[in-house]
Amino acid sequence: MSGRIQVIKGDITKQEVDAIVNAANCSLLGGGGVDGAIHRAAGPELLNECRKLNGCKTGDAKLTKGYNLPAKYVIHTPGPIWRGGQKKEIELLASCYESCLRLASKHGCRTVDFPSISTGVYHFPLEKASVIAMSVIYDYLKEHKEIERVRMVCFDDRTKSYYEKALSELGEEL
Ligand code: ADP
Repeated sequence: MSGRIQVIKGDITKQEVDAIVNAANCSLLGGGGVDGAIHRAAGPELLNECRKLNGCKTGDAKLTKGYNLPAKYVIHTPGPIWRGGQKKEIELLASCYESCLRLASKHGCRTVDFPSISTGVYHFPLEKASVIAMSVIYDYLKEHKEIERVRMVCFDDRTKSYYEKALSELGEEL
């Protein structure tokens, strides 16, 4: 796969890219899962900067430096908690991906890596989440040539297989 959208298996805290995305919570003060892993790898200065941000609404995004991470920036976005699908979960998840990409463009990021937002403890169904993520990323990259590459960095094979499937069902490779 050599297009501008890629799916890989890996640990997002290890990626040398302009920005990694954090599946955060609204407090922006850290948590479990990928959020905890990012804070551990970035070091305590990340939490110091996050404390000054006054939290973040679900579906929005805020940017910090990457500190001890190989990534230059961290874009924090609180995904929606899945509550059955009638609480704007789909729109909110789409908004997470789009808000992150807009911030990445604004800060001159050319390479951006996402984790699978909301599909861990927030229980968003993986199949739905993967289709939403891929279609928002695809539509954005089509219109925004300044972003060279976006990767989904999946922590396990099952997650990876869903994003690969969603990617393969999009239009022509970008
Ligand atoms: P959420 O609260 O948004 O559901 P989680 O952190 O619980 O976030 O899970 C989101 C996804 O991130 C899950 O697929 C989980 O396996 C994955 N994940 C956990 N740690 C990492 C990591 N270090 N790198 C990439 N993905 C990770």
